[in-house]
Amino acid sequence: MTDPSRRLEELRALIGRYNREYHQQDAPSVPDAEYDRLVRELESLEARFPELRATDSPTQQVGARPDPAFSAVPHRKPVLSLQNALDEDELRAFVQRMAAASGSELVAVDLELKIDGLSVILRYQDGVFAQGVTRGDGLSGEDVSHTLVEVLDLPPRLTGAPRGLLEVRGEVYLAKEAFAALNRARQAAEQPLFANPRNAAAGALRQLDPAVTKERGLRCFCYEIRDPADLVETQTQALAALAAMGFPTPPESQRLVGWEAIWSAVQSWQERRHDLAFATDGLVVKLDHLPTVARLGATAKAPRAMIAFKFPAEEVVTRLERVVWQVGRTGVVTPTAWLTPVQLGGTTVSRATLHNAALIESRDIRIGDRVVLRKAGEIIPEIVRALDGERVGTEQPIGAPSVCPACHSALVHKGDEVALRCVNDACPGRQLEGLTHFCGRQAMDIEGLGPKLLENLLAAGLVRSPADLFRLDEDALLTVPRMAETSARKVLAAIAGARSRPLSRLLVGLGMPGVGERAAQTLARRYPHLQDVLVAEEAELCELADIGPITAREIRSWMDDLEHQRWVKELVAVGIEGLSEAETGPQEGPLSGERLVFTGTLSVPRDQLAAEARAAGADVLSAVSGRITHLVAGENAGQKRRLAEQLSIPVWDEAAFRRKMAGEDS
Ligand code: NAD
Repeated sequence: MTDPSRRLEELRALIGRYNREYHQQDAPSVPDAEYDRLVRELESLEARFPELRATDSPTQQVGARPDPAFSAVPHRKPVLSLQNALDEDELRAFVQRMAAASGSELVAVDLELKIDGLSVILRYQDGVFAQGVTRGDGLSGEDVSHTLVEVLDLPPRLTGAPRGLLEVRGEVYLAKEAFAALNRARQAAEQPLFANPRNAAAGALRQLDPAVTKERGLRCFCYEIRDPADLVETQTQALAALAAMGFPTPPESQRLVGWEAIWSAVQSWQERRHDLAFATDGLVVKLDHLPTVARLGATAKAPRAMIAFKFPAEEVVTRLERVVWQVGRTGVVTPTAWLTPVQLGGTTVSRATLHNAALIESRDIRIGDRVVLRKAGEIIPEIVRALDGERVGTEQPIGAPSVCPACHSALVHKGDEVALRCVNDACPGRQLEGLTHFCGRQAMDIEGLGPKLLENLLAAGLVRSPADLFRLDEDALLTVPRMAETSARKVLAAIAGARSRPLSRLLVGLGMPGVGERAAQTLARRYPHLQDVLVAEEAELCELADIGPITAREIRSWMDDLEHQRWVKELVAVGIEGLSEAETGPQEGPLSGERLVFTGTLSVPRDQLAAEARAAGADVLSAVSGRITHLVAGENAGQKRRLAEQLSIPVWDEAAFRRKMAGEDS
């Protein structure tokens, strides 16, 4: 057996590192299940060898120390984590302990969804938001008041709040749709993806610049009154009191009495949770009677009278049928796994990314293998491993391609990169990806110009570079298969609408490496004209916030590429230079801060209403996502309205919109 004290040291060091990656850098390198397994191993070793227990062991600590980039705020009382029940037996044992402590078999608990977000402490003074702090290491946290005010449903002012200090605890989260949109944007900007909505929410809140937080569309739920501690007697009353003051509270919380009722409710959530608009990683069972909760107290890490029941990590087994390599706009060629369709986390999954050839090799995955598929953070499907014990001998190794799947030119490795690249600028596959990115939601947001139509336009020789889109006319569009007059007009109207996009969106659309929404806004603020960006010095770019030396070099070399210079010149020639942020950016008006989508039949054409909304300070978008604040719906609104309702996005009819424009009803 390995020396227990050596193993303890190893585990503490490893868990300490994972804690920093997860809580401070918001970028875990191992799945939660692996982390939880190591913590349990450490706990059981410490239980067996109590003499080796250290007070600074991760089993005795919560989270990680506050990041010095923020000011540290001491908590008035510790902000703890939760103990975990991993299966039915562990949950039953907890309920029995609570029954014994309450002196009744019929113990009453409050069952709440465990929101996959970031814990925050909110302080209100006389009903007005005063300060917000992260959990940090439980003793002190980071002051994030400046970004918390950008959380969509955090009430700045309460109704009927107690006088003096009110301190509540809540969870800041990103809805599934907003999380997916954020990762799509990061993928497009070739930035690392967030592993789960919790790390993404933490990344969005722990920002120095509140504008970044605002654009991510964070939301929150509040579930605990920390101060005044005697405001209510039960957790059920606490949730009702929070809701009455104006806080959003975890939906469908239930007061349940006795083990049978608790277990049946827990089971019913195992499937239903996938229908929610936000991710949950479990349920929290809380003793309802708060004076007993206080009497039972807490361990170093967690209160004794509540427990988290974690949903088992969702893994399924399916077969890898083929691997398809695709070229992206920057030329990187990536493998996608085509799988026998399988149900996972409430959706049918038939594709998963395999990232790159090196990963395929290190996991020794072969075509024909039975593979374990998992959804990271309930959202991104990935192949964890192959069941090599089940191989029958017909499985085929996945060879990396030597030529581009779209243009057949030889692939290369740039420097020491693991990625394979197509370096042919005229590659039709790269052109299609580049144009799809240009028209995408985060960029020029041209509705109706999706990959299918763009592929046809490329094949017909009607477009090659972004500027060509603005030269299209109805006659040209009508030559494309299955294009009728009405749809041609719609596409042209959408293209015309994109003429008034701000410079930052145009910069995102051009697809420079490392330039996502945030870096593009920084560039657009510093260089109000497209041509100024073209001549920016590398050293100057380096000095900008959000742009590091690598991105600066990549932007510069992107600009130096003759093909890209031609794109920009052509765009300028057709009048597309991106409006300066001052022209488009937050106009002051009754709709300042609103991000709207219009749908359905309205009394005037949608474009006209959208222009009025922009003039009144709103940002108008084409697609419903967690980032919008309201949907303006006319008659016969269909899909968009349903999606908005699913995402709990409030809907205005035209009359309500007009009242807001007139500055009434605020
Ligand atoms: P936790 O996530 O298991 O649970 C406690 C948290 O649940 C509380 O802090 C609170 O913020 C939250 N919560 C959400 N809804 C709630 C509700 N309705 N009522 C009460 N609380 C609610 O514990 P933790 O201490 O925040 O984090 C530890 C977990 O984080 C680990 O179990 C692991 O899954 C993950 N982790 C992973 C890594 C990694 O490297 N992958 C590293 C560190 C931590």
